[in-house]
Amino acid sequence: MAKRVVLIVIDGLTPSVFERAVENGDAPSLSFLAEHGRYARALSSFPSLTPVCASSIATGADPDVHHIPHLVWFDRDERRLVEYGSSFGAMVAAGTRRAIVDTIFNLSGRHLSFEAVTVFEALDDAGLVTAAVNFTCYRGRTEHRPTVPGLTRTTLGPRRFFFYNLFESDVTGAPLSVRRRSAGSVDEYAAAVGRWLITRDGFDFFLFYLSDYDYASHTHGPDAAAGKLADADRAIGSLMDAAGGQDDFLERYAVVVCSDHGQTPVHHDVALEAAYADLSLFRRSGWERPDVAVCASNRAGQVYRLPLCVESVRELAERLDGRPAIDVALFLEDGGAVARRDGEELGFRRVDGGWKLAGDAAVLDHPDGLARAWAALHNPNAGDVLVSAAGGYEFADLSGRSHAGGGSHGSLSAGDSEVPMLVVGLDTVPAGISDVTPAVLAHFGVEQPASSPPACVA
Ligand SMILES: [Zn+2]
Repeated sequence: MAKRVVLIVIDGLTPSVFERAVENGDAPSLSFLAEHGRYARALSSFPSLTPVCASSIATGADPDVHHIPHLVWFDRDERRLVEYGSSFGAMVAAGTRRAIVDTIFNLSGRHLSFEAVTVFEALDDAGLVTAAVNFTCYRGRTEHRPTVPGLTRTTLGPRRFFFYNLFESDVTGAPLSVRRRSAGSVDEYAAAVGRWLITRDGFDFFLFYLSDYDYASHTHGPDAAAGKLADADRAIGSLMDAAGGQDDFLERYAVVVCSDHGQTPVHHDVALEAAYADLSLFRRSGWERPDVAVCASNRAGQVYRLPLCVESVRELAERLDGRPAIDVALFLEDGGAVARRDGEELGFRRVDGGWKLAGDAAVLDHPDGLARAWAALHNPNAGDVLVSAAGGYEFADLSGRSHAGGGSHGSLSAGDSEVPMLVVGLDTVPAGISDVTPAVLAHFGVEQPASSPPACVA
């Protein structure tokens, strides 16, 4: 019988902070795991934003398969903006109630493609007990009723499912105060749930998600957030204590530690909308024959060309030439993809498992840039033009807010895209976040669902 698996996702943790902390002893629990496991830097999805990346982790597939395109996107069928919480202001701008429903219920329940099978669904189907705490992409086979009085809408999640006190499949006594977020209260809740599960050995697969690190890194910048990793490490240490100590923990569990995306410092914020100011922009308040819907937040943007627009997709992309905030604009053309930077272009298409290139390859000189851009462009919910921000820049969200002076992520750049990947007790070190679920399924001897790519051996 394969060992049970704990998958620990520390949101926004960069490889360099992880490596330094493990090296100098600032994160003793992670150091212990690193001593007993194998480590490599791995790659995130594009856009390197949590809803996209969490979906890549949960489904073992890229955005072209799981269909979650960004933190904010335009739903062409419903003709409306979907906002998963770029900021509180952005949620208000998109309609608070709607944004909350989109984030809590619709991401997993409606927007996530039913063609993509989640790790929870695949393992549930194999008769294994799945568990998750606070993870946004949670679709499973068990129907859960909210614990909050007045909320009646149910959702499908893992067998043991804990989501910010809104869904709790078991009474654990774990406290949660979202108002003390900056003090780390969300991760304290996650750790309390984790200890409860481990004390009971109550799962075969447990996705333990820590979100406070990303929050701190946005505020203070990726390098100033290193101290926050000590909190995440303590939370992991408390799980080990619940198992009877570090050695007992590894005796019982195989472990994967990774993050969903990186972060880089941001100094300037710009409104991506400014490039389209002379066009009619989609606004939530009215349907006034808009030309485009511009969706941007953090370090990635999307431009949706709407039916009445007289400009072509290419012309919409060309408008971004010469703007310092733009690293590269991407769009599909004639069955291939185009990456454009200040008038320089790279055309690329998949041919026989490889790539056919035309133009200046340096335009898309990012880690696994071709494949990640291709998957993003072939997501049916993505915009017609995808935008990756230049270093140091961030796009203001729907409410004009940004993290200038702090940290952000979302682009194709290495800093936003590289994640730490530590594995103890699995056969392979996943090369990307979408390779984690295939590695976990292989560990349990569960066949890959048809939607998932084959497991990647690194
Ligand atoms: Zn973030």
